[in-house]
Amino acid sequence: MAFYNTDLRGSICTQDKDPLTNVPLSELAPEAQSAVHLAIEGTSSVSRLFKSTISQQQVFAYSIPVYAEGRVIGVLSATDYMEIFSDILSGNTVLGGGGYIHLISSDASFLLRSPHTVVQTNPATIYDGPYLSNSSVQEVQQAMAGQERVFSSFTYEGRSYPFLLEPVGLNDWYLFCVNTGDGLASYSTSFTLTIGGMFTVLLLLVLFLMFRGYRLLQEYNRGLRRLAYFDSSTGAENAARFQQRLVEALGTGGGSVVALSLRQFPFIVEIFGKERAQRLLRHIKEILDRHMQKEEFFCRDSGDLFYLFLRDTEPEVIRPRLHALLQDLEHNAEISKLDYQLAFYCGVVSAPAGTQAASTADHLLTSVSFALDRAKGGYASTIWFFDTELHKKEELANSIESHMHQALLDQEFKMFLQPKKDLHTGKLGGAEALVRWSTASGRTIYPGQFIPLFERNGFCVKLDLYMVEQACRQIRSWMDRGIQPIPLSVNQSKLLFFEPNYVQTLTELVHAYNVPPHYITLEILEGLALENVEALNEKITQLQAEGFRISLDDFGSGFSSLNTLGKLKIDELKVDRAFLLEMSSQEQARVRLILKEIVQIARQLSISTVAEGVETEEDEQLIREIGCDFGQGYLYSHPVSTEDFDRTFMEGASL
Ligand code: C2E
Ligand code: CA
Ligand code: CA
Repeated sequence: MAFYNTDLRGSICTQDKDPLTNVPLSELAPEAQSAVHLAIEGTSSVSRLFKSTISQQQVFAYSIPVYAEGRVIGVLSATDYMEIFSDILSGNTVLGGGGYIHLISSDASFLLRSPHTVVQTNPATIYDGPYLSNSSVQEVQQAMAGQERVFSSFTYEGRSYPFLLEPVGLNDWYLFCVNTGDGLASYSTSFTLTIGGMFTVLLLLVLFLMFRGYRLLQEYNRGLRRLAYFDSSTGAENAARFQQRLVEALGTGGGSVVALSLRQFPFIVEIFGKERAQRLLRHIKEILDRHMQKEEFFCRDSGDLFYLFLRDTEPEVIRPRLHALLQDLEHNAEISKLDYQLAFYCGVVSAPAGTQAASTADHLLTSVSFALDRAKGGYASTIWFFDTELHKKEELANSIESHMHQALLDQEFKMFLQPKKDLHTGKLGGAEALVRWSTASGRTIYPGQFIPLFERNGFCVKLDLYMVEQACRQIRSWMDRGIQPIPLSVNQSKLLFFEPNYVQTLTELVHAYNVPPHYITLEILEGLALENVEALNEKITQLQAEGFRISLDDFGSGFSSLNTLGKLKIDELKVDRAFLLEMSSQEQARVRLILKEIVQIARQLSISTVAEGVETEEDEQLIREIGCDFGQGYLYSHPVSTEDFDRTFMEGASL
């Protein structure tokens, strides 16, 4: 059986074989093709016998037009073997057992021969053999040319047999009905009526079967569609259908995707049972139905997850709409029967009109799940809009976390150096080691983007020690090359500072490189002192005893107080760039006074001072007046690679 669309491509189903789809009509036998063409023009037809290109057997095809709204939309076609008629033609009912019927074609050749035939010689046409007289042949030929009914007779083995040739009305076929005289004595109208009636029954049967076949096919297709596009438990559309519609919808304008899920759904299933949970989902579906506007749709993906497509893109419009929806969902009578406070989470992502539909659809579905994740967690219903900036940061953080260990092994972390100028001598007084991550792809990532993350995940401990090692290596390299080393400052995170074997590890490092420890300055943040000044001082003392110098970084940027300064036994104080910035503001005079005071107190405590963020000559002038010992900043140099640093500052040149 086959169904052909008007574009002449069709699906074919053959007994015992897999169905074929999208078969061009031109691949069928010409007879089948013309039957389909006739049906497209609105005429039901049955073809001549032909050899099927599919089953390789002699078959005939019948085709009927399929209408929708008064128009032919396709053709239902079937082929069958001629033998299906045999049973009817050879039954004992023909002429009450007093005759038999052959089916012949317009050229008088036999299509089907009745087994009851009296002629045993098996002629190819009814004219073969000496059976028909010349006048009979003429008479028959004439009648058949005009598709008329004709009575005549033939003689076989000395006996005359009357026969009737009755046009079938299809393909110029004829029924060749022979009276053997064993039953009815002669032809009668009732005989013709019997034949006609039988044939009508036959045709009706064929038509009925075709119609049934068509209905079955339709039902089957509907079933497939339901399976493919609908979620059986709620009756909502499923995710596959949603995705399809989303692409279409985005092709015609902008919109937003909302992911909606229920707080604690597995818990609800557990407490109220599967049955009621299902009912709840069906109910949500009904409420969603009511909230959809023109060109909007939704689906249930799995579990308690629904996706909605809304035509609006402005958060100011979407938020109140979703609020109304959530209200409806939370306070609905059916739902409140559960005696359980439901809460819903919504993630929202919008796509303005004019974005590439197919790629956007995928992208939106990914983004909306991020937004949904963000919305989850609270006790009350929450709506979260996808934020591209935030997402980029999260993505970067994820990629950093998954690559950091390998990056350390691959030496992607590079030590850059920024010089410190001794303001008393005007010479190079040291340098700060600042990390740069130069990724395999050639990108440089700055510490602001990963240090805070490493402080949270603990990786800073490893990285900072690695940087201390790099500093030792650098100093060793200068010493080996006969260059007078300068002190290098390395930043130390809080986590590292309180590692159990911290002091020992550092000591082993400097020993391993055979570097005098006083060349290494450890920069710590004041925040360390907030928790336990005594413990911190104890660590500082241990480190100083091993020969390391300790510097307090970013002084004046946060919680700085003269109080901590008085308590901590540090060697160096780094005044934050914030001070320089403030001094150029209106508060100038007072800030300058305070800073001058701090620098003096430091001097009295034998603490040297470094001003950070010196960018201009005026800045330098200012910190000189205040009495700072060192200056560090872009005025002298940006942080540079060790090679550049060597070339610029160590091999003979000066600041
Ligand atoms: P920090 O220790 O205060 O380092 C000084 C920062 O100020 C550096 O930024 C430096 O490039 C920048 N800077 C230097 N001169 C100037 C200037 O004249 N003007 C301005 N506006 N900025 C200047 P960077 O290298 O991006 O480092 C940022 C922060 O990351 C550092 O601040 C430090 O807290 C942290 N960090 C850097 N390397 C490491 C490390 O190896 N370990 C740890 N734990 N933290 C590090
Ligand atoms: Ca620092
Ligand atoms: Ca600093």
